[in-house]
Amino acid sequence: MIKFFRFFSQDLGIDLGTANTCVYVRGKGVVLMEPSIVAVNRESKEVLAVGKEAKKMVGKTPSNIVAMKPMKDGVIADFEACEKMLRYFIDKVKSAKHRFVLPPRMVISVPSGITNVERRAVQETALKAGARVVKLVEEPMAAAIGVGLPVEEPYGNFILDIGGGTTEMAVISLGGIVLTKSLRVAGNEMDEAIIDYLKKKYNLLIGEKTAEEIKINIGSAYPLEEELTMEVSGRDLVEGLPKTVRIRSEEIREALQDTLSVIINAVRDILEETPPELSGDLIERGLVIAGGGALLRGIDKLINQETKLPVFIADDPLTAVVRGTGKMLEEEKYFKQFPEE
Ligand code: ADP
Ligand code: MG
Repeated sequence: MIKFFRFFSQDLGIDLGTANTCVYVRGKGVVLMEPSIVAVNRESKEVLAVGKEAKKMVGKTPSNIVAMKPMKDGVIADFEACEKMLRYFIDKVKSAKHRFVLPPRMVISVPSGITNVERRAVQETALKAGARVVKLVEEPMAAAIGVGLPVEEPYGNFILDIGGGTTEMAVISLGGIVLTKSLRVAGNEMDEAIIDYLKKKYNLLIGEKTAEEIKINIGSAYPLEEELTMEVSGRDLVEGLPKTVRIRSEEIREALQDTLSVIINAVRDILEETPPELSGDLIERGLVIAGGGALLRGIDKLINQETKLPVFIADDPLTAVVRGTGKMLEEEKYFKQFPEE
């Protein structure tokens, strides 16, 4: 009977990230990764674009259009926009074969720090967006399953997920979270730090999108074998005119220092609280980094230097969480382990 239902339902794993939403379709894999952004008309509230299309509009919208991020600091900041976004993505991945059959089961990852009220809100949003059954999984657990850590074994595993709005970290053993921490400091904060730095040093005003490009193109956490440079354009705050400056990777590293320290201090705090038996495992097995922040050059070297643990970057870190939700759909043992809301 269950098999029968499974055949007729297009089950989805969803990573509702602050920066990107990813969708996994059971039997298919990761089919969608788009920015968690919705562009709406300010007056009529009509949705004009979602995802990639909406991201193109950020910072370039006329006054009657707002490009908003429904997920802020890892929680749903705007329920209506979130529901519309979810519905849009779910419709986008719907296959013709399944269109008229059972509504899907969904596994959705949520930040480990959210309250019960927020959990219920996520669940209701998914039900409104068309789910039949919704299971929520804490993001670090999904990330750990996604990167293939042996979470059920009696060993300590350390997962660090540096996203856009939040950094989540956890020590996991025997299928449960032993310790966890969620920071509202992650990729966006790095972009802000770059904006501040260029403002102070060059009187150059740049937007969020440019700051992110700089971080991705020449950002680093640890000295590079070959340092990089990049031409950056923005507005001169004194003259009020467009201006271009050549920026060096050393400067961006300096700009990112404080944000990275916050993350490293939190990792150290967790390590200090970790029960000694598990600490021993961590020395052996190290720490795995997932999320877009794992792609920052040299982040593994810096964290290794500051914690003395072996550090690994997950394969395809941006999809680690959604692949974890996918594994939960594919393997009933994982699916059963998590309560329905
Ligand atoms: P979330 O789970 O919060 O949606 P993601 O895991 O999708 O976040 O990561 C998005 C963040 O990763 C953004 O802040 C983005 O700027 C950052 N990012 C993406 N690629 C890189 C890169 N190559 N170097 C540094 N940061 C990156
Ligand atoms: Mg994430």
